[in-house]
Amino acid sequence: MNYTHETISHLKRSSPAQAEFYQAVEEVLTSLAPILESNSKYREEAIIQRIVEPERQIMFRVPWVDDQGNIQVNKGYRVEFNSALGPYKGGLRFHPSVNASIIKFLGFEQIFKNALTGLPIGGGKGGANFIPNGKSNGEIMRFCQSFMSELYRHIGPHVDVPAGDIGVGAREIGYMFGQYKRLTGRYEGALTGKSLLWGGSLMRKEATGYGTVYFANYMLNDKGDSLHGKKCLVSGAGNVAIYAIEKLYQLGATPLSCSDSRGTIYHDEGIDVKLLKRLKEVKRDSLIHYLDAYPSAKYTPVSDYPTDGHAVWRYKADAAFPCATQNELTEQDVVALINNGCTLVSEGANMPTTREAINVLLEANITYGPGKAANAGGVATSQLEMAQNASMQRWTFNTVDEQLQRIMKNIFTNANEVSKEFGQPGNLILGANIAGFRRVADAMIEQGVV
Ligand code: NDP
Repeated sequence: MNYTHETISHLKRSSPAQAEFYQAVEEVLTSLAPILESNSKYREEAIIQRIVEPERQIMFRVPWVDDQGNIQVNKGYRVEFNSALGPYKGGLRFHPSVNASIIKFLGFEQIFKNALTGLPIGGGKGGANFIPNGKSNGEIMRFCQSFMSELYRHIGPHVDVPAGDIGVGAREIGYMFGQYKRLTGRYEGALTGKSLLWGGSLMRKEATGYGTVYFANYMLNDKGDSLHGKKCLVSGAGNVAIYAIEKLYQLGATPLSCSDSRGTIYHDEGIDVKLLKRLKEVKRDSLIHYLDAYPSAKYTPVSDYPTDGHAVWRYKADAAFPCATQNELTEQDVVALINNGCTLVSEGANMPTTREAINVLLEANITYGPGKAANAGGVATSQLEMAQNASMQRWTFNTVDEQLQRIMKNIFTNANEVSKEFGQPGNLILGANIAGFRRVADAMIEQGVV
């Protein structure tokens, strides 16, 4: 029986026009075919039909007033997808592309990613179709307050614990936490990614980028190799990309590129990570200003990208780290990477590689770390933040870093072992999906039909 085809047909009728969500479901179900065939209990318990339907979806109006006194209205979302393993956990994304399909694809991925960490967290995701770029601090604060004025009634430390994602960093989490506290009268860990001054965890900011690079190194170590001396391409210039670049240097590799929504920088001497932090974390400026300090670096605006992909993947390198957004690595990009000698792809972003591009990676036997395994360091460290909040403790940077490394290594080992168990050694997309699924599905069965 073709579960993938049947499920996608059903979803197209029950949840129309959600292309990214179908793409994420298709990716997971394709990997699950061997376990669904060999284990009748998952069929008898209708696990697939249950797991693709969120437990709860909240959509709400977010009205706010801009600096000119005009009333603006955005659409807010929180999808509480699966709580079999713990409170819903997953980020909030503020980006103009946000819609129900994007939030559902992210929430669905989050279920398996969170399961894979081995930690007690369920899967959820949320956000709004808000454009943070170019907004004043006051506008960001008013938007965040309005967003939380609805969201607060759905979240809490034992219910649902949102974090950051694209467009949501420590500043936005701060404004949302302030409003949560004001509305509930409680000072509690209902959000992660908080400032270090008041409840945040050391290493949370670095965790996703560092974790993605640790994961890549574990994949290489398993083959008797390492990142040391490797030339790397990185996309993105946000939280994940910046700390992936920083960790690549620490492990002896050279990151040669980064990108934002307007263009790509390629710098053959290696990206200046201090300058990148100044441009993106402090000034929140365009990457084109990288050229003010390094006129010899190459800047390609989006208008000059190849029609079938992205400029960032058309350079020669040993490894690629997509760290910006979904579907940013196309089939043609992967072909170009392979022709240029690239042998490793580790995903910092969620679903950055198109379905067709994944097939090319697998056929070419490229070392490939899928996002739900390779970028799980962020949510894992968020859970460590929850643990510190609950026990009123503050762990050192090294303590959190050691735990992050241990978790990333376990995720690699687990996904790798499962890929062998199902006869496809090294296919970590299969290994990660099955390992995550098994944990969630077994918990759902034990908790009955709820
Ligand atoms: P940020 O908002 O910090 O950075 C995103 C970066 O990607 C920015 O440089 C942004 O450009 C660029 N970007 C965003 N959307 C697009 C687009 N449509 N086209 C081109 N460039 C784009 O987000 P994060 O670094 O937190 O997130 C990056 C990815 O990692 C996302 O897929 C997210 O889901 C995933 N992720 C994040 C985690 C985290 O802990 N933050 C955890 C796990 C996964 P600009 O600067 O111009 O806005």
